[in-house]
Amino acid sequence: MIVIILFTTYAYYRILHSLKAIQRNLKPIYEKFGLDVGSDIHADELTAAVRWSDQLLGGMEASVEEFTSSHNDTLPRFDQGLRFEVSAQLHSGESISGELVNYIHHHDSGLSIPVFDPVRNEEVFRGAVEALEEKLGEMLELIKVDKDRGILEFQVYFLKDPNFIEGFLSNNAQGMGLELCLENLFKDFILRLEKVKNEMIRSRITDLVDLKMQLVQEILFIVHRERSYEQTLKGSVVLIQSLFPSQVLLFHKSGVVGIICREGTSSSHSQILLESLGMPSLTELPSFPEAPDGERVLLDIDEKKVIFNPNRGDLEMIEKARRLHRDAPVLHQPVQTRSGEEIKIKTNLNLPKEAHRSLTYGPDGIGLFRSEVAFLGMGHLPDEDEQYEIYRKITRAFVGRPVVFRMLDIGGDKLVGRQSEREENPCMGLRSMRLLIDQPDLFRSQYRAILRAAHDETTVIFPMVNGMDELEEVMGRVRQFEEEMARDGVEHKKVRHGIMVEVPGIVERFEDIVDSFDVFCIGTNDLTQYTLAADRNNQVVSRYFSPIHPALLKMVSKVCRLAKEHNKEVCLCGEVASNPMTLPLFIGMGVQQFSVPFRTIPALKELVQAQEVEECRELAQAALACKTCEQVKGLIRAHQKESLLELADG
Ligand code: PEP
Ligand code: MG
Repeated sequence: MIVIILFTTYAYYRILHSLKAIQRNLKPIYEKFGLDVGSDIHADELTAAVRWSDQLLGGMEASVEEFTSSHNDTLPRFDQGLRFEVSAQLHSGESISGELVNYIHHHDSGLSIPVFDPVRNEEVFRGAVEALEEKLGEMLELIKVDKDRGILEFQVYFLKDPNFIEGFLSNNAQGMGLELCLENLFKDFILRLEKVKNEMIRSRITDLVDLKMQLVQEILFIVHRERSYEQTLKGSVVLIQSLFPSQVLLFHKSGVVGIICREGTSSSHSQILLESLGMPSLTELPSFPEAPDGERVLLDIDEKKVIFNPNRGDLEMIEKARRLHRDAPVLHQPVQTRSGEEIKIKTNLNLPKEAHRSLTYGPDGIGLFRSEVAFLGMGHLPDEDEQYEIYRKITRAFVGRPVVFRMLDIGGDKLVGRQSEREENPCMGLRSMRLLIDQPDLFRSQYRAILRAAHDETTVIFPMVNGMDELEEVMGRVRQFEEEMARDGVEHKKVRHGIMVEVPGIVERFEDIVDSFDVFCIGTNDLTQYTLAADRNNQVVSRYFSPIHPALLKMVSKVCRLAKEHNKEVCLCGEVASNPMTLPLFIGMGVQQFSVPFRTIPALKELVQAQEVEECRELAQAALACKTCEQVKGLIRAHQKESLLELADG
């Protein structure tokens, strides 16, 4: 008991001490930018501020991590030896399995840089710079895509910059220790970059922080002659909190087979590199449990899940799916089922930069462009012209193929700036079209930008709408924007209109709406969440979240039937659309378009061609009569497993 009390007291002392130290260190920075430092800095603000100033103030991230991890009681319990799953948001590469290793950051490694005299300081510094230049050169050779080489080229350029060396020498001449020399040196450059208006240039700060971290690692290596820690990670799956671009490359080079990264990296350079190298990774799993080294994990990339202690069935299915993915030919036109029905497999697209890459997988168009993702990455609300550039990139890349732009779906779990912060329940708050109705300038700029960038096969869809009242208001605004553009002679194309079917109320009164729009995109992620009252992002209730719940099947079936009767298009675009197991079921329901992550397109097209529509309809009929998800699963397995296995074996 006494030990616990002493330990708790000590832990609190350390946390307070860390926070005070951080606060003290941040003060000059906050003041430099004219920010007021009250006596109370919120822990989140500290973490955010520390994230960019971490390395320049030395060791602070470690203190914050220590603080947040000691306070993080939201992580699920880890059950050793049991099979369980954790979902991720982002992925790259192909499914793999391996043993988990917790990555130890250099500032946790216990090694430190000793204080030397200036002569030895300079010697060690120059040695580290030289070694790092060589390493970066080797890494550059690994990257095949020209535009992805920018990060490393910037870092090499920086190391070679005479100002960098001179800056070091002048700090060193003042008799500072090596560590302090580096702090000052990088601090100086980072503060200069912070003041630059151009966002692209400012975004280089992360690369500088990364560069400093690498330099410290080189110095530690020279000083301690340690065998490079990364070499010991060969063959394992690395678990890491956040990921720097250089670490992606280092892991790749060291033979790491997969990466699990708790924090999101969607718009970051690290994600670009992960994708560019095809490195198996799952990122953005904030509730990933603390797990010991040596645990067997499977990175199921298609399902975006980490499976602990996978069973034989998991491993076999992954292996079959892997072969299917690898062997499926890329087809650049819609495919037909064995009975001759045309099925389109389109791509979901989140970022404009993915447009060209997605084309290499043969999509039959873009079924859903999530426009808000580009906004989230920018950190500010782009104006009409900036948006036009984004949308134009997409329509140019997809000439001759249909494109569906979704209006901003911000709110809920996707926030821009401080918006939605004040809401008690943001998932049901001022989000999506409600937000655009509330902010007419934003609505206007986005709609105009899309119409200016549109090509002949462009559709605009409205997310999260709940009925005719809202839709009449939306369409009223839209007509007004179109008239305004025509009156002012703004060059633009005519677009088709559609809605996301993702609120149960819309399905219930679908007959009232079906005539008013051309395209209906069934968003099973949200439709499931709102129908079953199960948060799509909450691991704890994930077993209550099932897109094949009998209630959901009934809804999908109704939408398909009515859309067919009125000659309208339906596209299934939630996560379940790319699941090979459920593909026959949805074909049987009448879905003729699927919008999926682009990497899954070749395999899905292959599967479509193996389907007999009559059999799919029988499966759908039987599934519609089921009362439980388990019964539906049983039917799907019986129908699909054999054909999937046959296909993969063949
Ligand atoms: C959906 O809800 O199923 C959907 C496709 O939209 P998002 O995942 O972007 O909410
Ligand atoms: Mg949705």
